[in-house]
Amino acid sequence: MTKTAAPLRPSREEAEEAIKVLLRWAGEDPNREGLLDTPSRVARSYEEFYEGYAINPEELLERTFSEVDDYDEIVLLRDIRLESHCEHHMVPIIGRAHVAYLPRKRVVGISKLARVVDAYARRFQIQERLTAQIANTIDKVLEPHGVAVIIEAGHQCMTTRGVHRPGVSMVTSRMLGVFRDNSDTRRELMSMLNRPNIGELSA
Ligand SMILES: [Zn+2]
Repeated sequence: MTKTAAPLRPSREEAEEAIKVLLRWAGEDPNREGLLDTPSRVARSYEEFYEGYAINPEELLERTFSEVDDYDEIVLLRDIRLESHCEHHMVPIIGRAHVAYLPRKRVVGISKLARVVDAYARRFQIQERLTAQIANTIDKVLEPHGVAVIIEAGHQCMTTRGVHRPGVSMVTSRMLGVFRDNSDTRRELMSMLNRPNIGELSA
């Protein structure tokens, strides 16, 4: 995956003009005092929400540690906060991701796994593709025995509009290598996921 420099990226002024158009479309007067700074605030928010386009997720995983004393068990990072935006309605997808891999030779700093999640989440997404992209990138760069990514998230396009179903969450998973082929490994992962959260217990 390479850096996705959006073709013909508009200027900041053009982006702010577009936000004024949407305000007018909603029925507002963009010149009302309370809204005067809104277009620039929204443009800045967009830089944060969609900063993933400027990040190369593969590069995040390039620094690895090979001296792991033959550690050959599952590494699981669970309950990673996930904030993304639905590409169909441009509204938030909020949830959590669990990322696991079974190292072959190399392990990566755990914060890097969370940053890979962010790099793909901070784009316009559908949850299925987001799940696959995270798993495929870890698989490609680390070449582990297997990768598992599970995402559970609420979609505001479903909770605050349309069918209005608050509380509904969507669960997607992508299992590669041993997590797909070996039911024992998959079962071990599921039991790790179902264990009480040690962080919560000690907090
Ligand atoms: Zn949507």
